[in-house]
Amino acid sequence: MQQNANQKKIWVFVFIAAVILLVINFIFFHQKIPLIALLVFIFSNIAVFIFILKYYSDKILHIQSAAEHQQETINIIDAENKKNQEYNLALKLKIARYDNLKKLIEDLNSSLKLDAVIRALSSTVYTLISNSTGVALFYLVDSQYQKLNLVYSIKEDAGVVVLTKEGDIFDQWVLRHSNQLIVENLKKDFRFDSDSISGKEIRSVLSLISSPLISNNSLLGLLRLESNQECFFNQDDLRFLSLVADLGAVALENSLLFQKTQDLAIHDSLTGLYTRSYFIDRLRDETRRCQRLDQYLSLMMIDIDFFKQYNDKFGHIVGDLVLKKMGIVLKESLAEFNPLVCRFGGEEFLVMLSGGIDKKKALAIAEMLRQRIQNEKIMLRRQNTQVTVSIGVASLPLDTKDEDELVQKADKAMYIAKGKGRNQVCSA
Ligand code: GH3
Ligand code: MG
Ligand code: MG
Repeated sequence: MQQNANQKKIWVFVFIAAVILLVINFIFFHQKIPLIALLVFIFSNIAVFIFILKYYSDKILHIQSAAEHQQETINIIDAENKKNQEYNLALKLKIARYDNLKKLIEDLNSSLKLDAVIRALSSTVYTLISNSTGVALFYLVDSQYQKLNLVYSIKEDAGVVVLTKEGDIFDQWVLRHSNQLIVENLKKDFRFDSDSISGKEIRSVLSLISSPLISNNSLLGLLRLESNQECFFNQDDLRFLSLVADLGAVALENSLLFQKTQDLAIHDSLTGLYTRSYFIDRLRDETRRCQRLDQYLSLMMIDIDFFKQYNDKFGHIVGDLVLKKMGIVLKESLAEFNPLVCRFGGEEFLVMLSGGIDKKKALAIAEMLRQRIQNEKIMLRRQNTQVTVSIGVASLPLDTKDEDELVQKADKAMYIAKGKGRNQVCSA
């Protein structure tokens, strides 16, 4: 700047000198123009010309540098603007996410049903974090065996199959550490052996976030989002997932307790079979359904023979074990027929067979069951014991169209079997 000012001064001095010389030239040599005057004149004009040239080129340089400076300022403002826009967008996204939390809490509060709670939690994070892409998985923890069970999934591509129903190495990591997890690129994460993942699963996953659902210090479940793009999730996403998991953990615990209470209410505590009242409710529904669809429905009333004697001989506690065993045998031997089995009374059981099992087939199944129970050995004090059963069979619509009468007919048939000497199957 100082150099520029000095140059300017010199040029102003040259200009003034040139003008003075020009004036002198005119005053003293206006009649005849000697060579010196001509030279002075030419020199002064050249000087003026150079001065003007230099002056304007300086000015252009100055304007150019000012323009560059302005451009730099514009670039900085532009970059800041862009940053602000990104920040605004992120803020809007955050606000939208937290706005949706209100709806989630309402949903969680409105239902105690386990599947509704799981659905609400999974779909919230799938839409708000994953933008409805990739896969969302929900696992419940089997506290007895510390095992994971995949209970719900949402998939962008319906053809995707999740083979690891008990979780993969990432889920096991979350289960073991009771901590949230982010993996930006599965193939580059040194914590996990990528070969062992690709060998087991056919679906392609490159990044994931996962959070445990912990309530009262116990791990109840696990919520996981995954994508086939690397670095799809960021720390903000993980924070939001953990927040949803924390909110969901309490709701999940309540619904698990509710389900447990409901299960206790409809299951017999000794055998684990359904209670009589639950069975009768279901029988009513199933009767209506079968009548509507014009299908068969059969009942088997099963009573243990001489059970009082068995109790008297081996004691009540052993009798209880036999009843328990009877529950297992009934469930196992009839599993393929998808039955509904209840403990109807002390040592009586009632089985419903629907799905097109007519009386003939029901009688055959009852005979198979009778033989199986007869052959079942019960070891007591190094002694083999056994029990037999009498079974009565009644079917809909052959024997009656009314469900109460159907139960009575099966009971009556069972008493016929007793009357005929027990350990046999009789029909209504
Ligand atoms: P029947 O062949 O005529 O059926 O003879 P039964 O002895 O099995 O029939 P009864 O009705 O005379 O006796 C049923 C016995 O079942 C009486 C009772 O001791 C036994 N019982 C009922 N509920 C239970 C139970 O919860 N635990 C045990 N251990 N025994 C039970
Ligand atoms: Mg009996
Ligand atoms: Mg009885």
